[in-house]
Amino acid sequence: MSRERLYLFDTTLRDGAQTNGVDFTLADKLAIAQMLDELGIDYVEGGYPGANPTDTELFGAGRKLHTIFTAFGMTRRPGRSASNDPGLAALLEAKADAICFVAKAWDYHVRVALETTEEENLASIRDSVRAAKAKGREVLLDCEHFFDGYKANPKYALACAKAAYDEGARWVVLCDTNGGTLPHEIETIVGEVCKAIPGDHVGIHAHNDTEHAVANSLAAVRAGARQIQGTLNGLGERCGNANLVSIIPTLKLKPEFSAAFDIGVTDAALKKLAQVSHALDERLNRGSNRHAPYVGESAFATKAGIHASAIMKDPATYEHVAPSSVGNKRKVLVSEQAGKSNILAELDRIGIKADKDDPRIGRLLEIVKERETAGYAYEAADASFEMLARRTLGTVPNYFDVTQFDVNVEQRNNAKGERVTVTLAVVKVKVGSDNMISAAEGNGPVNALDRALRKDLGQYQKYIDGLKLTDYRVRILNSGTEAVTRVLIESEDESGERWTTIGVSPNIIDASFQALMDSIVYKLVKSKAPA
Ligand SMILES: [Zn+2]
Repeated sequence: MSRERLYLFDTTLRDGAQTNGVDFTLADKLAIAQMLDELGIDYVEGGYPGANPTDTELFGAGRKLHTIFTAFGMTRRPGRSASNDPGLAALLEAKADAICFVAKAWDYHVRVALETTEEENLASIRDSVRAAKAKGREVLLDCEHFFDGYKANPKYALACAKAAYDEGARWVVLCDTNGGTLPHEIETIVGEVCKAIPGDHVGIHAHNDTEHAVANSLAAVRAGARQIQGTLNGLGERCGNANLVSIIPTLKLKPEFSAAFDIGVTDAALKKLAQVSHALDERLNRGSNRHAPYVGESAFATKAGIHASAIMKDPATYEHVAPSSVGNKRKVLVSEQAGKSNILAELDRIGIKADKDDPRIGRLLEIVKERETAGYAYEAADASFEMLARRTLGTVPNYFDVTQFDVNVEQRNNAKGERVTVTLAVVKVKVGSDNMISAAEGNGPVNALDRALRKDLGQYQKYIDGLKLTDYRVRILNSGTEAVTRVLIESEDESGERWTTIGVSPNIIDASFQALMDSIVYKLVKSKAPA
């Protein structure tokens, strides 16, 4: 049986840009469009030309993309002709392959919000679709509030969709604008629509206000819709849009969908999905959701001892799909509850060969437990665990020694008479027989220490040039009588690999120093730097 084509439409750059705290620059938009293109998304909605300078500039120049680059905008205003509507004219001038119009499909909204007649709204849809087609564009119509409108007046909601389809729109997209519709309702209503409009011309645009946007999208496909609109990481106003990062692997890896449909995302591109998801967060300067399905750091993490030993025998026992299929990794957490089997499983994963009867494994388990009691949390710091394991097993070379460091924070008036706080760190390092001294200023003690430490590592400098810190988290723990500080540092290298290291001390500088050192040594081990 041949598979049907199912199309993906990404609106991260338009609907996703409505997210509180998200403000894409032109460079962001271009980079994200490129990433979506490489992923194999059929349609990328770039924005709303004419609505803001960024989007107007974005659509001012042509793009070399495989994807159908789409401009979003309103149908012509009521009471005007298509040729006499400046908003529509700007949209038709936009350098886009397709135009996605939005129109009201709920009679109540037509009367109250648009203050026009039902017939005039239908005429506006027809005229706008016709005008865009005449300009040689592929046309889509987003039917706003379609499901609420359908519940109130099915005949009118359908008439709006049908008006666009009859006029030659390639897609009629049913929007759950308020996001309150449930999967079984979506399935029923989309099924009804597909009796009037062929499903391969029907799309679904779901919002996540009941946490069903992904389920609603799949329900629509079951009922016949053949285009799914969504965003990367479910970005979008309020609770977000349907999350394409969850939808794509479900379509690719779950037999109900993979046997029935082809999508534009190849198996090879799917393996980059976790990277794409993290790259978006990186661009938004926010931490990734550790518990995100498929791509989160914890999506394939196991803690309990019996699960870990079963996973070592056959990963399928506790995994619904192979982590590598979406570019993720299996992770066996090392924690206070850790047994020898967790430790062995984790060593196996990171590629350290160990014999289960080796007394050093028992010793490592003891050290982990002691340190976790003191405030370390190795399940959040995989790279520090690896360093601890390698040191206990005696496989970490002594690349360099920090013989002394000094951090000075000074508040004073600068030459302009402004009050400034200046931080200076000085680090003495011994590499082989060379003694080196580096000094650096920073915007705070940890930043200055990091800069000084990574300024000159002699023969090892070339291995750490691409290293950068991407996140720094501090927590004060109250264990027993005294407070200690736990520092977690996330680092990234030139290959895009990330790792987390940890430090614990009553002194925040000391805790940070431990985490920084682990990160640098981890990078040297990973790069196979010669000892
Ligand atoms: Zn929306």
